[in-house]
Amino acid sequence: MKALVHDGHGGIALLDRPRPRLLEPTDAIVRVTRSTICTSDLHIMRGAVPRARPDTVLGHEFVGVVEEAGAGVRSFSPGDRVAVNCETFCGECFFCRRGWVNNCEHGGWLLGCTIDGCQAEYVRAPFADNAFTRIPDGVSDEDALFLGDILATGWWGARLAQIEPGSTVAVIGAGPVGLTTMMCARLAGPSQVIALDVDETRLRRAAGHGLADVVINPAEKNLEDVESLVRAATSGRGADAVIEAAGGDDTFEMAWRIARPNAVVVLSAMYERDQVLPLPGMYGKNLTFKTGGVDACGLGEVMGLIAAGKLDTGLLISRRYPLNDILDAYRAFEAREDGCLKVVITPWERRA
Ligand SMILES: [Zn+2]
Ligand SMILES: [Zn+2]
Repeated sequence: MKALVHDGHGGIALLDRPRPRLLEPTDAIVRVTRSTICTSDLHIMRGAVPRARPDTVLGHEFVGVVEEAGAGVRSFSPGDRVAVNCETFCGECFFCRRGWVNNCEHGGWLLGCTIDGCQAEYVRAPFADNAFTRIPDGVSDEDALFLGDILATGWWGARLAQIEPGSTVAVIGAGPVGLTTMMCARLAGPSQVIALDVDETRLRRAAGHGLADVVINPAEKNLEDVESLVRAATSGRGADAVIEAAGGDDTFEMAWRIARPNAVVVLSAMYERDQVLPLPGMYGKNLTFKTGGVDACGLGEVMGLIAAGKLDTGLLISRRYPLNDILDAYRAFEAREDGCLKVVITPWERRA
């Protein structure tokens, strides 16, 4: 089969790889019908994820059809359409029993990181009963595509933020995760969502789709000015909840600055560098920080919201490429060509 493999030093190639086989009774093999490229794939490609194993198939955000299920897989069988969780978890360890599946003692982020991922024709999914969410009739593969990763991250970030009806939520970053975060934050009934991003196109998109009420572009502004703009929109207090989904050089500092005293600050971004927590400057602000690493569980509920038309991620899709052309897809995604937000990878096409 064809698969996109990285070398850990910025190099990627579309190679022939053997089709995956079941290794454990709880495994299943999925024929990938739609996959996508995530910013985390770029982090891995650049060598910024120390755990990631080179010579591994990239990708962890996908949907497909169960091709083969191990003897220990109880809830799914061949032919089932499934959305697959980006996290692998056993469901039984100390952390899983508490819903902290990102820290599963037998899993975590494996697919496309330490084991072969989904940018291929087939993929082996461990702990298939936990990994899969059935796609109901009436929900298309593309409707469900982002469930297991960026939508799960948006859902989790919004939930951690403890958004109260009528409150103000600030979301830093209006990229794919920022937008799913705003979509999920909306469901909690805030009176306003403030979107912050240095990319004007992204801000316009967030406002245009009704996901943000106020947009702020911090480019060429210092953080004190950004803080003043947020205060101006919040009766001088600052945002009731802040979700940092950008992971930029100064977005961590922005996050705690624009939060009102006693706010919850959620850091769902993935940073490539250490961040400074300047405690003297924030003393008395009494913030609660919650740090990143999505616990992507309970996705049946989110799938229900998709089926009910309450979450629609279609606006994230910028372009489609068959697996044959995935290198072009990487280039367009990385360069944000024409405001490219998410690319969809469709199955390999036999060409004459
Ligand atoms: Zn991802
Ligand atoms: Zn576990």
